[in-house]
Amino acid sequence: MKANELRPCDKCGDGLGMVCYKVSIEQHLVDMAAARRSDGLSMMLGSTVLARAMGPDEDVTNQVGVATDKLLCQECMLTVSLGRC
Ligand SMILES: [Zn+2]
Repeated sequence: MKANELRPCDKCGDGLGMVCYKVSIEQHLVDMAAARRSDGLSMMLGSTVLARAMGPDEDVTNQVGVATDKLLCQECMLTVSLGRC
């Protein structure tokens, strides 16, 4: 990170300290049709690993909205529930 990207901890508001964490949070929605295709191929081939290797390698979730980056100090990272940042 560049110096201009640094800011206080997004959880506690204190300085980040010597060790900090940049956490990217994305919300995804399951694409049920793609998930069913993936499961179906796994069942047909009898192996999830084989289905992943031979299948279309399509996404089974789609990102909803924009990713959010959070900066956390070490203490908060050890205790945080990311949903409450
Ligand atoms: Zn903190």
